[in-house]
Formats: sequence, C-alpha cells, structure tokens
Amino acid sequence: MLKNLSKLNIVRIGNYITYSSLKEIGNRILESFRGIIEEYKLLHHDTPLLDSVDAYLLTIVLNDEFGGHTLGITDADLKTKDKDEFYNSIFGGKNPDNDIAVVSTKKLCPSKIECARDYDLYISRTLKVSLHELGHNFGLIDHASYKMACDGLLCPMSKGEINKFGYLGYVRAIIDSRGTKFCDECISFLNSVYGYRSQVV
Ligand SMILES: [Zn+2]
Ligand SMILES: [Zn+2]
Repeated sequence: MLKNLSKLNIVRIGNYITYSSLKEIGNRILESFRGIIEEYKLLHHDTPLLDSVDAYLLTIVLNDEFGGHTLGITDADLKTKDKDEFYNSIFGGKNPDNDIAVVSTKKLCPSKIECARDYDLYISRTLKVSLHELGHNFGLIDHASYKMACDGLLCPMSKGEINKFGYLGYVRAIIDSRGTKFCDECISFLNSVYGYRSQVV
C-alpha cells in the first residue's frame, strides 16, 4: 500500500523565520510536487535556542509531536554521528524509518542579508534543500552525476560532493545551480509510483 504523503506539515523550529517566508516555501513545494503533495499546514515547534541539534533525534521528536509527512526547518546546525567532519554537519536529512525530513538554514544564509535579493536567495536555497529531502520521502535517490531538468537547471536530487567544494562552495556550486523541477528520471519514477505528472514549463 502506498503511504499517504499528500498532506505535508511544515514545522518551524524556533522563531527565526517568518510565516510568510514559510508560506512561500510551502507554495513552491506544492508547485514542484503538483498533485502528489496537495496541501500543507504551517506548524510551530518550540525549542530552546540551540546552536546545533542532533538530526536523528530531531526527526524522532517531530515524529512524536506531529507524525505523518513532515518537514522541519531549523536554523540550528544539524549534526550526525559521522566521524568525518565534512559529513557530521548536514544541510538536510530524513529519517528512513518515518516520513520526517529536516533542513538546516544555518549554512544557507548569505553572509549578509541587506536587500530583497539576499533574502530571496536564502529562501530559494531553503526551498531547494527541502525539495531534495522531500524527494527522498517519495523514494527518489541522489544523483551522483549532474542531472538536468528540462529547464536546464540541475534536478533537486543532484548531490555533488561536499568534500570537493567545502560547504560554501557546495552551496554555490550545487544548491544554487539546482532548479525546482525534477529531471526525466525522477519524473518517471514519481509518475509510475504516485501518478505524478510533470509540470508544464
Ligand atoms: Zn540526498
Ligand atoms: Zn532527478
């Protein structure tokens, strides 16, 4: 039986991001997953101000509190148990045992936010990392190679190597080069499993 992923909880963790920004992210998620995510709810999870949080633990807490299909967005650094320093701090992750994905905006924020363009960049990066993690919730896998969607931008599932670029270089080289449309391979998977229809360009 297919899991019901069509209703998404978007949970703000802490107070730092505005509801209107989350709404913009939510609306663009609906566009990218048109027909397979049909609605989202904006929710809030109270948390003490933390510099970093264990990613796995956070998915467990969110699952207990909200359950279902959930995307948590935090500005705390997401930590994993990986010994390699390049991988023990992540942009986003999902718990393979449930449908909870988490995204950290910590390394996505431009060095300064002085104008609308800086803020748009910050929101668009958060959106792209969110699309990647939600893609995993639907069973999509990372592209090791640089796969493009029909608009010429990288598919949200493109992964690249953090080791090669360092964090800041990775954000610019991979995350900023991703678009919000999936490539043919991802579309055909989503179509065969969930009846997804690709977006009209
Ligand atoms: Zn991935
Ligand atoms: Zn793809």
